[in-house]
Amino acid sequence: MRISEVAIFRVDLPLADPFEHASSGLVRVLEEVVAAVRTDSGVVGWGEVRGNCAYVTGDTADRVVAAASRLAPLFLGHPIERIAALRARVEQAVVGNTAAKALLDIAVHDAAARALGVPVATLLGGQLRDRLPTDTSIPFVPPDQAAAQARRAVREGFRLVKVRVGLGQERDEARLVAVRQAIDDEPDGGAVELAADANGAWSPQQAVGYLRRWERFRFAWIEQPVAADDIAGLRFVRDHAAIPVMADESAKGPREVLRLVEQRAVDLLHFKLIKAGGLAPLQTMMHIAEAAGTSYMIGQMDEGMLATAAAVQAGAASRAEHFEVHGYARVARQPFRGLECVRGEVLVPTGPGLGVEVDTSLLTPVHVERAP
Ligand SMILES: [Mg+2]
Repeated sequence: MRISEVAIFRVDLPLADPFEHASSGLVRVLEEVVAAVRTDSGVVGWGEVRGNCAYVTGDTADRVVAAASRLAPLFLGHPIERIAALRARVEQAVVGNTAAKALLDIAVHDAAARALGVPVATLLGGQLRDRLPTDTSIPFVPPDQAAAQARRAVREGFRLVKVRVGLGQERDEARLVAVRQAIDDEPDGGAVELAADANGAWSPQQAVGYLRRWERFRFAWIEQPVAADDIAGLRFVRDHAAIPVMADESAKGPREVLRLVEQRAVDLLHFKLIKAGGLAPLQTMMHIAEAAGTSYMIGQMDEGMLATAAAVQAGAASRAEHFEVHGYARVARQPFRGLECVRGEVLVPTGPGLGVEVDTSLLTPVHVERAP
């Protein structure tokens, strides 16, 4: 069964619940790039990544489309089940461009798994769990709204609430006080962990100052306190503050993860397909973390349900201890169907491939590559 067509689409997903954190700016729309990989026997696999991720990968939707269009001819005529050989061909052709690579890699995995009639998790070694307890995240909103969001999350069954920080001491503290109080006031609040994500907003010295001052908020961890490329800064924070440190933007791909664990720079790691460039490098990152004895989270970029489903399949086949796979809930109207969140846990779809159906009528075709 060979790949006969690669099609690239765009779709904008307006957010019912726009968000802002220290590096994102105000995000009202997820500018998604979608790919369909078709085989000569008619099986179609789908992939999705968010295009407007300049603050993490340097990408725009146009850039992802251009890179994916450039890579698409490499896929034509290739046997769908020989994923590793295809990946080697892609890696040799283009360095970087992890979002475009992840997009096509997700679609190839969906098609290969559908051709075999199994979930993508089976291609990744098989499911270790059938539901993923996910965090929910509170962006830059006024303290009363932050408290209301935290209260709702606890009542809906979420057991990990993540607050964005990096707005300056006064405004962060007002929000943190409100959220901590809201959680503590709930009957189930004792079972809920609170984490914070600074998205690289601080210098190492500022981070240590804030974290010492904020010990009363009992953070489970602080995510990305300093800039992505400041590995020594992460280590400094880890050495001088009592709160565990998680790398997200710093933990881009396997090499970066190796460096982070070699330098003992962090306590936890946060992995995403869009940074890794595909499911195989994501698994390499997991294996490095496991060998180092470092806990990790599988997350996504607040993307559509299809992109998130790829993270869910990878998470289901992983030994991750934490998950951030709920960002799709912010989207007002999905062209995708198949993920469900029950009491703070995303259920792993049991159908073939990613387990997500695509409403193609909402997608705009932007590039097609067909075998002659
Ligand atoms: Mg993060």
